Amino acid sequence: MRSFRSLLIILTLCLSLLLTWWVQHRAYDWSMSRLKEQGEDRLLSTIIGLRSAIDSYNYLPFLISQNKDVQELLLYPVLDKGAEVSRFLEQMNLVSGATTLMVLDLDGRALSYSRWREEQSFFLRSHAHSPYFTQARNGNQGVYVESRTNGEPASIYLSAPIYDSSRFMGVAVVRIDLDQLSNKLSQLEDFLLIAANERVIMASDRHWQGQLLSTQVESRRESQLDDGSALQLKQLQDGRRVLFQAVELPDLGWQVAVVSDVKPVLRMRNTAALISLGGCLALGLLLLYMRERHLKNLSRQETRDALERNERQQRDIINNAHVGMIGLDASGRISFINPMASQQFGVGTARILGYAFQDLIAGDDESFTVLQRTLSRLGSKGFAPLTAHEVVGSRADGSTFPMMISIKQMATLADMQYLVTVIDITKRKRLEHALQQANDQLEHKVLERTQALQEAQQELVQAEKMAALGRMSSAVVHELNQPLTAMRTYLAICRHLLSGEQAQLAENLELIDDLTQRMALITQQLKTFAVNKPEALVPVKPRAALDQSLVLFRDRIQQDGIELQIDSHEPDLEIPGDNARLEQVFVNLIKNACDAMNGQSEAKILQVQIETDQAQPDSWVRISVADSGPGIPPDSLTHLFDPFYTTKAIGDGLGLGLSIVSSIVQDLGGQISAQNRVEGGARFDVILPRLSETSQTQTENT
Ligand code: ADP
Repeated sequence: MRSFRSLLIILTLCLSLLLTWWVQHRAYDWSMSRLKEQGEDRLLSTIIGLRSAIDSYNYLPFLISQNKDVQELLLYPVLDKGAEVSRFLEQMNLVSGATTLMVLDLDGRALSYSRWREEQSFFLRSHAHSPYFTQARNGNQGVYVESRTNGEPASIYLSAPIYDSSRFMGVAVVRIDLDQLSNKLSQLEDFLLIAANERVIMASDRHWQGQLLSTQVESRRESQLDDGSALQLKQLQDGRRVLFQAVELPDLGWQVAVVSDVKPVLRMRNTAALISLGGCLALGLLLLYMRERHLKNLSRQETRDALERNERQQRDIINNAHVGMIGLDASGRISFINPMASQQFGVGTARILGYAFQDLIAGDDESFTVLQRTLSRLGSKGFAPLTAHEVVGSRADGSTFPMMISIKQMATLADMQYLVTVIDITKRKRLEHALQQANDQLEHKVLERTQALQEAQQELVQAEKMAALGRMSSAVVHELNQPLTAMRTYLAICRHLLSGEQAQLAENLELIDDLTQRMALITQQLKTFAVNKPEALVPVKPRAALDQSLVLFRDRIQQDGIELQIDSHEPDLEIPGDNARLEQVFVNLIKNACDAMNGQSEAKILQVQIETDQAQPDSWVRISVADSGPGIPPDSLTHLFDPFYTTKAIGDGLGLGLSIVSSIVQDLGGQISAQNRVEGGARFDVILPRLSETSQTQTENT
């Protein structure tokens, strides 16, 4: 494109130069033609002027030749006659304005002379060889030009033969100095008369007169006009350049020339060239300006087209987008809405235009306030784009939906100053909610599992402890039992031997017996740990086991004033188990209840309940032992079933009872829990599997 423009400029310049050259050539040619024509006119006028000036003297020789006195003089050349004719010639000369008049005889000697008074010597000269004499003697009218080199003006001689009948007698001669003619040619300008010897014999400029033409005019060059006519251009001594035009006058042997200054021609040529160049430049500039304008218009049009195309594409994209798009003006009114947004808000495209966008939003929470703030700043400098903002949209039917909107300023679309993009996030919100629920459930499950694991771990630790305790107990029981039995045997023998004597000793032995009994109780209890879990389970009736256990507490219940309440509607309820162990459970729980109520002044109530589990009556049996004691201190609740945990004074409790109960219940596949009752006192709940038909068959088989 750029090279094309350069080429165009160069071409225009070349054309301009060519045109300028042509115009100046034509101007020069035309102007020179005019100058040439004017020169020719002047040349013609000069020739006519010259001819008429010379012709005005032509009659004189003839007039003289016809004069009778002149003829008489030639016939009879006497001095007086000659003088008379000379006076006549003098007068005629004065009248005619010629330079001199003379009459020559046959031999060419002057007989009469108009200027006889000044030049007497003139009569002595012979003119026999002068051309004007010979021409006349030959019967012609003589014309002769005499040019001089001494600066004197040239002279024209006109002569006519004088006859007596047909005999030649002499010649009448008229001499006219060219000075005489100059007055008559004074109106002619810039002309030259050039003699055959190249000497200027007359010129409008007197300085030239008598000079050689070559010294005045320097030949420059021959030139030719378009019509083929040749021109002689010369330079004058003063430096002027002139057109030189000359014509030869053969009868006079002269050249008549005129010179015309070519300055106007050159001026005309230069002016034409300047005008042409200026015109070309102006035209070129005009063309360039027009081209630039055209290109600018073209570019403007292209930009407009591109913008329109772009706008169309954007509208297509907006209309086909799966995102709602809404155009707002500076006051927050809807100027455009795409089909997706119409669908989202459930409104017709045409109906919603002009409405405030704010009317499409529901809610009055924090996010609504933020949106309101943004909308209030539309059209002001404080406007800041809003991105991925979650608000609640309001549909035409009054329903709402969660949406995510962004508000940005637009620069491209004329009727949309701000673009709001709307994404319906109902599905996402639903998923988020579902995910949250799943998370909560998972967390709950994890907590449950963690708790179960912690419990399992605790049980494991408990089991480990119990196992260690069992091992230790069996060693202790083994080691203590034998000497204890021996001791008791010896004590019995001693008591037998000392009966009736030494009462103090018997009392001491009684004390020893008590101590050994207590040791036996410890070993008995420790035995529970030492004894392995029974391999075979037999049907056991908890009610029967309770009755057998209560036998041990009959005296104590009575002494302590404890009211016993037994609640057992199904005395035949059975569990798979081991009678001795179940009794041990009852014994420990009842003993603890009695201990708790010991020393209490209020009513002492011991409640024992044996029934099927209300939740699963076919599968479980619930045994509850409750008392009206002070209850279990909260700190103790978590440690109750730990071995050797006791709140009782040393000697009163070993802290093994509940851990033994827990161990037995676990061995029987059940669970034990302790809690404080609302009405006061503690309650221990034992849940054991109920003997079903299948388990009964299994136990029978075993
Ligand atoms: P011990 O009876 O030898 O202390 P246990 O294992 O039987 O050992 O009991 C542990 C502890 O549990 C008791 O020291 C007591 O603090 C508490 N306890 C047990 N049963 C009851 C109850 N019915 N009322 C209040 N506290 C009880």
